[in-house]
Amino acid sequence: MISISDATSLVLQHTTALSVESVNLSEALNRVLAEDIIADCDLPPFDRAQMDGYALRAADVANTPARLGVVGESAAGSGWHKEMKTGEAVRIMTGAPVPVGADAVQQVELTRESDGEVEILERVDVGRSIVRRASEIKAGETVLRAGEEIYAAMIATLASFGYAQVKVGRRPRVAIMATGSELVDVDKQPGRDQIRDSNNYTLAAYAKLAGATVERLPLAVDDTRELKRQIAAAAERSDVLITSGGVSMGVYDFTKAALKELGAQIFFERVSLRPGKPTVFGRLGDTLVFGLPGNPVSVAVTFNLFARTALRAMQGAKEPGLKEETAVLVRDLKGSIERESYLPAVLRTDRNGTLLAEPLKWGGSSDFVAFARATALIDVPAGVKIIDAGSRVKVVRLPG
Ligand code: AMP
Ligand code: MG
Repeated sequence: MISISDATSLVLQHTTALSVESVNLSEALNRVLAEDIIADCDLPPFDRAQMDGYALRAADVANTPARLGVVGESAAGSGWHKEMKTGEAVRIMTGAPVPVGADAVQQVELTRESDGEVEILERVDVGRSIVRRASEIKAGETVLRAGEEIYAAMIATLASFGYAQVKVGRRPRVAIMATGSELVDVDKQPGRDQIRDSNNYTLAAYAKLAGATVERLPLAVDDTRELKRQIAAAAERSDVLITSGGVSMGVYDFTKAALKELGAQIFFERVSLRPGKPTVFGRLGDTLVFGLPGNPVSVAVTFNLFARTALRAMQGAKEPGLKEETAVLVRDLKGSIERESYLPAVLRTDRNGTLLAEPLKWGGSSDFVAFARATALIDVPAGVKIIDAGSRVKVVRLPG
């Protein structure tokens, strides 16, 4: 049995980045950047008015009210490109270039225009309501870096510097296969001794969130020959194969045997993790294989700790693992002497902005209905019997 951190290192050690592709900016959300993003122009590209009002010389309106001659208009997209002289003002709109000769903008609410003149009712400081050229970004600066995930907040940056196409890591192709002779698909009424498969859908959802394209395979029965046939066929056409079920110590747990008989290299098969101890990681040809335990909560936890990390690393993510944060525990929580635990919790923030973690009341790794409310996992180190309410704990947010 190995530790979670050793298991994660093995996953990263055996994961290589996939090729790079160009996608249209409109398709780039949540992909991983494969190039640094460079500003191709200053921002703003010219001295820009921040208010609707009048461009003027601050010295001309040191004593107010002051009257200035309105000599022109500068609108967004169509500036006034002569030189403004003392005693003059130019009507100006938000986003328009500030004329040469002006050193401030007075907002329209503090002015009164009539008969070609404007009355300025209050003085302004030099520089008021002007955003200077290049004050935000200078041309040539690196603004985003390869290995970052593209969030919606970054789209304006990519668009503004002309990235109509963006280089990103290719999406991994993931095949997902639930094993278990008791399983029927969601559109079937379970017969005696049967249950509906949920793992295929959970894994497909999380794999999509991790940026993969997903193929759901037919349900596999607990039969080594059948498993071997399906696993071999799936590995042929996928970068990553993720199975659920059939990896514990039961008489009908054949997934590992099938992998081994097919000649897969197994890098680990038991992790000091609760829930999720019998997690298997290996490689069959060029395909990475994750053999996850069957219980639905174990599937969610082990996918996000191990398979997700591999999928993000394959796309070139600089930080492929879930980000750790610190929260304050709101209720006592039992750990495990033998294994590190990742226990479902709800995160919230109190009035002072402190992040709080409330452990879910749940019935263990089969209790997916309780897990449905989880927004995070609390990491309890091995050997800790109990953590008291009020203690600081490490948490990771669940994607999605
Ligand atoms: P296993 O790891 O195959 O021993 O399965 C552990 C438990 O998870 C058993 O109660 C299974 O019935 C259940 N289980 C296995 N696969 C699935 C699945 N795809 N969907 C829902 N439950 C499952
Ligand atoms: Mg089973």
